[in-house]
Amino acid sequence: KKSGFPRDNAKNTIEFKENLSLPHEAYSLQITKDNVIIAASDKAGFLYGVQSLKQLLVTSANVNDATKAYKVPALEIEDAPRFEYRGVMLDVSRCFIPKENVKKIIDAAALLKLNKLHLHLVDDNGWRLEIKKYPKLTEVGAWRVERDGFFPERTAPQKGEATPVGGFYTQEDMAELIRYASERAIEIIPEIEMPAHTTSSLAAYPNLACPVVDEYIGVLPGFAGNTDGLVYCAGNEDVFTMLEGVIDEVAALFPSSYIHLGGDEASKVLWKKCPKCQAHMKAENIEHEEELQSYFMKRMSKYVQSKGKQVLGWDELTNSTIPEGATIMGWQGMGNAGYKAGKLGHKFIMTPARVMYLIRYQGPQWFEPRTYFGNNTLKDVYMYEPIQANWDKDVAKNLIGVQASLWTEFCNSAEDVEYLLFPRLIGAAEVAWSDANTKDWNGFVTRLDGVNNQIQQLGIISAASMYNIDHKVEPNQNNLKVTLSCIRPDVQIHYTTNGNEPTATDPIYTDPICVEKEQIVKAVTYKDGEVVGKVLSLPLSKNNATGKKVLS
Ligand SMILES: [Zn+2]
Repeated sequence: KKSGFPRDNAKNTIEFKENLSLPHEAYSLQITKDNVIIAASDKAGFLYGVQSLKQLLVTSANVNDATKAYKVPALEIEDAPRFEYRGVMLDVSRCFIPKENVKKIIDAAALLKLNKLHLHLVDDNGWRLEIKKYPKLTEVGAWRVERDGFFPERTAPQKGEATPVGGFYTQEDMAELIRYASERAIEIIPEIEMPAHTTSSLAAYPNLACPVVDEYIGVLPGFAGNTDGLVYCAGNEDVFTMLEGVIDEVAALFPSSYIHLGGDEASKVLWKKCPKCQAHMKAENIEHEEELQSYFMKRMSKYVQSKGKQVLGWDELTNSTIPEGATIMGWQGMGNAGYKAGKLGHKFIMTPARVMYLIRYQGPQWFEPRTYFGNNTLKDVYMYEPIQANWDKDVAKNLIGVQASLWTEFCNSAEDVEYLLFPRLIGAAEVAWSDANTKDWNGFVTRLDGVNNQIQQLGIISAASMYNIDHKVEPNQNNLKVTLSCIRPDVQIHYTTNGNEPTATDPIYTDPICVEKEQIVKAVTYKDGEVVGKVLSLPLSKNNATGKKVLS
């Protein structure tokens, strides 16, 4: 105030007030006809207050239109997050996402009041972080052969083939991203995957694989490699020396309190055959290969903890003794193994594959680019309640948050990544921020469009799949019953049965359509008089011999 700031409650001002009684990340927003007051106790709280104010502006006008006057409603908001961990994971290994695109996603995540960006930096398909002590990790491990087909069908790399596809972040790039995220109250959590899903590093340093492997190891363009179940050799001290060297640089580079060590889907076939691994098991009194993974993860966890960091890992770590103090990410099924870890006193985060893996189809599959694992619409994401009804309350206390995870097997560009992330990340962010008892799909939809517009104004692609029509065709006595639906409650479905493109003057769908002969049902969604979805076209005929539907 001494330096000329306006006095308290001055008119036509936005005032930031420190209020130390508010918890970390909480804020209050007070809008009167005279001024706007945002109060918080820390940077994150002020940032979230501003984000909420921006969202109110967007719902009243186009933010990019400087000629328009903005109106905000007079209101008072007291707001605080439900969970301390509100994350999004980007798999930058399967599909390298350039720094500038990651920044745009960080901007969107900040708008959604997310506070963790988990980067899956290592997998079979690429090592994405420069490690100065082991330069081949990126010189070799960040680049793969060219294969354009569907990820599961891409053939294994051959020795001597050129490897033009890939990319990586230098430590300088990563420091820039860390700073950028931190300015937006987002912490970047690095994941260095082990002991499996790391063909990229074994392509760079093949001596770190079990010596029973004699096939060529190359960075994989898809699933297929020359060696099944490729992992680090757990009986080779050089493996631990290398990984400790990596952790040294990662711990120094990332201010995050966490380092994620992966630990998922590790095949034990090579460890069973490997004389070094078997000798090591004998020496350490380890009976099963599953416990050898436990030994591996515990040893690396201790090293991470010796650097003053906490360990995060996937829920396979619950298959044997969990490293002490590790926080578990529950992913399989509905994330039940996370709860299992919680019962043992471990903190855990829910990212269940069925609802929080955004690789899945976000709308009716015939309109979507090819992916796998079934459907997971924006509504499914939004309606997800992480705390299950049968959970013990004391265990539920160990749940620190939720994360939307985007695996990028089916992405070939940053645009593909954005398409799968948005708008579903908006739903995930609501799950992480808002209390369970505020869940209201119709209410969410009315707020959604403004936020979605803001995200698109960042230059991000957001899918319109929520406007597409799902259908069900069932035999019904002598005809077929066609049921149409759309997850948006605020659209009208117009349809035709004569093969013509549906227009706003065609009938509005209310009840199932009865099809008695060969007919083409076409339907599309309209909102405010405009087409918003893709045209669903269903050529239908009833097979008279069997009475069964024929759907071509
Ligand atoms: Zn071995």
